[in-house]
Amino acid sequence: MISIIPQPLRVEELPGRSSAQLTISLTADPALGTEGYELQVAPECVKLAANAPAGIFYGQQTLRQLRAADGTLPCCRIWDKPRFGWRGLMLDVSRHFFTKAEIKHFLDVMAAHKFNVFHWHLVDDQGWRIEIKRYPRLTEIGAWRKEIGFGLDAGASRSYRADGRYGGFFTQDDVREIVAHAASRQITVVPEIEMPGHSSAALAAHPEFSCSGGPYSPDRYGGILNGIFCAGQEAAFAFLENILTEVLALFPSQFIHIGGDEVPKDNWKQCPRCQQRIAAEKLKDEHELQSYFIRRIEKFINANGRRLIGWDEILEGGLAPNATVMSWRGVAGGIAAANAGHDVVMTPGTHCYLDHYQGKIGQPKAIGGYTTWEKAYEFEPVAPEITADKAHHVLGGGGNLWTEYMPNYGHVQFMAYPRACALAETLWSPKAGRNLEDFQARLKTHTKLLDALGVTYARTLD
Ligand SMILES: [Zn+2]
Repeated sequence: MISIIPQPLRVEELPGRSSAQLTISLTADPALGTEGYELQVAPECVKLAANAPAGIFYGQQTLRQLRAADGTLPCCRIWDKPRFGWRGLMLDVSRHFFTKAEIKHFLDVMAAHKFNVFHWHLVDDQGWRIEIKRYPRLTEIGAWRKEIGFGLDAGASRSYRADGRYGGFFTQDDVREIVAHAASRQITVVPEIEMPGHSSAALAAHPEFSCSGGPYSPDRYGGILNGIFCAGQEAAFAFLENILTEVLALFPSQFIHIGGDEVPKDNWKQCPRCQQRIAAEKLKDEHELQSYFIRRIEKFINANGRRLIGWDEILEGGLAPNATVMSWRGVAGGIAAANAGHDVVMTPGTHCYLDHYQGKIGQPKAIGGYTTWEKAYEFEPVAPEITADKAHHVLGGGGNLWTEYMPNYGHVQFMAYPRACALAETLWSPKAGRNLEDFQARLKTHTKLLDALGVTYARTLD
């Protein structure tokens, strides 16, 4: 049995093992694309070839996986390339802050699984985690809350300031360092700046951009809160565009995630400025006001040469013309968007929410749900309701780590792995090659690589 995650397109197992030196070369095989590679392991030589650096990198990751069992390589011939171009993991650093070193380790482990998109959920009600030079209050006020919250033990995290406030943030230098670290591992960092909802931490720093004027404070309980930006104020749009200008300069990613989920409309209903906007723009209701908001932000992002992606609520009230949808409330939003000709990324809660319970007994408190590694392995990004001529709009998918109940990095890893191994295979390998029993056998060997990488994974295979 060749121990390899994800499964390759074509594998020929040959007798013997090898510990020969690796020879790397560039090739010109159009079928391999930019991420594919060809690998030959024989007793006397190991040859890796690809069209581009990404392919070489992924061939090297396969070699690491092959070597994990006993340090030598099984002789084989592999021709391999990914099924999807978006193979992501999302990490929420707002509910709890993780250090720069921890983020880098998270990226290292992602790379070993051939994930190529790090979706970085940087801001939410509970904390604003990215330095914005023009608005220092965002991190002075918005990055720190009164306590750890969520009913957690105060000692579950070390992210405290000298005065006892809880949180932290990444400086722009930190961000540049992390983006470079990711890039050298073929990972694109897609930043998420939430709007118009989930904005209590931003509004704690700048209540003038809310409907009521505040006050707000960074939240410590979670749920859907009423911290939303006022859609009737020009100044609020200017504020967000100024923030995005700094974000765009830091992140070369083609996609910029603007959140857009879980926006309660009560504030907008009561706000004269928002109601005036609805009248002036001839909008039907507050759902169309949300659509107006997203379209306006999309225009700004497109004018700066980037693409907008948001959670599937951005479909409500009409989707912005070029928007890409990240489907999380099941796959319905992704199906609707793909069939309407929009690109989509599938992250349905049923298979991709790594904050769910992963076992029935002895599990630490989680947000709810029940998603085993076997369930994650059943993930199929191209839902059958997507018509064949629209299937290419499914860019891929990914796992989401919402961290309400993951107060430290060890806990993040425990929730991510081994379920993320299953997602990695569903996003890379051909659908026809998937086999749960075979995967389970390979996963047992693969835990040696997880051990070598220093990953604190859940022992759900035992
Ligand atoms: Zn308003």
